[in-house]
Amino acid sequence: RAKEHGKGRTVLFDASLREAILIRSRLQRDLTPSLEAGDIFLVYQPIVSLPDGRLTGFEALVRWRHPDLGLVSPAQFIPIAEETGQILPLGRHVLERAVEQLARWRGMAGGAALTVNVNLSARQMWDERYVDDMLAYLADGRAGGLKVEVTESMTVADHDQAHAILERFHALGVALCMDDFGTGYSSLSHLGRLPFDVVKIDKSFVSALGSDPRQESLLRGIVELAHRIGLEVVAEGVETEEERAVLTRIGCDYAQGYLFARPLSVADAEALLLSAA
Ligand code: C2E
Ligand code: MG
Ligand code: MG
Ligand code: MG
Repeated sequence: RAKEHGKGRTVLFDASLREAILIRSRLQRDLTPSLEAGDIFLVYQPIVSLPDGRLTGFEALVRWRHPDLGLVSPAQFIPIAEETGQILPLGRHVLERAVEQLARWRGMAGGAALTVNVNLSARQMWDERYVDDMLAYLADGRAGGLKVEVTESMTVADHDQAHAILERFHALGVALCMDDFGTGYSSLSHLGRLPFDVVKIDKSFVSALGSDPRQESLLRGIVELAHRIGLEVVAEGVETEEERAVLTRIGCDYAQGYLFARPLSVADAEALLLSAA
């Protein structure tokens, strides 16, 4: 089709495609050295209880400060790392830093009940030796207050296998969160048959509140169903007071989003923790 619109268009398309491929290969090549150089680090976004806004914990989110390209979004480099397998060492780094940070915060005034969520990619969960290694690391008394977030796509590939892996984390006292609920397959029956403790409602659901009264009813139904099967509910991407009011009204337990705080540096997260104590 590009040809129909003449040569110029074709060339333009090729140029931007070539650029995308170049950036991609650059990120792929630079990821491992950056990991070793300490240019990949974590920020921590507060998770608060509703309606009081009290700090209950943080979600650890990875950041990459590339020496030339500046800050690169995880939405850009995580998929590359998943494809190449670099997610395995990267994910291990994330887990260790988050667990160390959690231990320090739990030792501080007001931090005893604090929790930290870590995102795990499907690729990390499907590698049996890798899971063995993660669990061995966590078994050394490091699991207290840790929650892991996985997306539904991880659980649909092989239900029995997913169940077995998730149970192994559970046995160590790690809480399990289904992330991004409302995107992808979003089957409530899945939630009920797997050992999840928490469901995180995706931002797209939250943002749709206010546009259509049926969205509120739908979300209320999901929250009630989740509660009925013993799950806690976190709303993601809460940006407005109005969203907070609706979420509170329908019984959502926790919230996360720019209304409360952006993802914070360790120092800022710590200051917040101390001020909340
Ligand atoms: P996620 O796990 O669903 O994380 C929530 C994302 O929403 C984060 O984006 C966060 O910064 C953003 N967010 C939070 N509150 C708001 C809000 O009020 N408004 C808007 N517009 N956005 C908000 P981030 O940090 O860019 O991460 C993107 C995704 O990358 C994450 O989505 C997660 O899937 C993945 N990711 C991040 N860190 C890791 C990691 O350490 N390991 C793995 N495997 N994936 C990660
Ligand atoms: Mg997450
Ligand atoms: Mg999410
Ligand atoms: Mg999300």
